[in-house]
Amino acid sequence: MNKNIRPVTDKDNEIMEIVKTKKIFKGDNYCVDCKKNCRDDKKDYYMVKNYLWIKYGVDHAELCIDCLENRIGRKLNANDILVCEVTMNKNYYTREILLNA
Ligand SMILES: [Zn+2]
Repeated sequence: MNKNIRPVTDKDNEIMEIVKTKKIFKGDNYCVDCKKNCRDDKKDYYMVKNYLWIKYGVDHAELCIDCLENRIGRKLNANDILVCEVTMNKNYYTREILLNA
């Protein structure tokens, strides 16, 4: 018997379960709904308030801002957006909304 092959442990099973439920997978940057890469456009890197993400978001996965708005059924407004470095300085789309509020 090959000594390099160790038996499967509970930890292995736990990791496989996480991979299977897609908490960790290679497509981490892809929108759950439309599958676009959320790193291609700064617009898709954003923060919204917790209650909104809990209701319409996708937990630790990614959702582009268009798909989030589709799920909500309207465009985001300043009350929806978490004011932070990302939404004020890095994301031109949320910045517009916040500055025009
Ligand atoms: Zn999308």
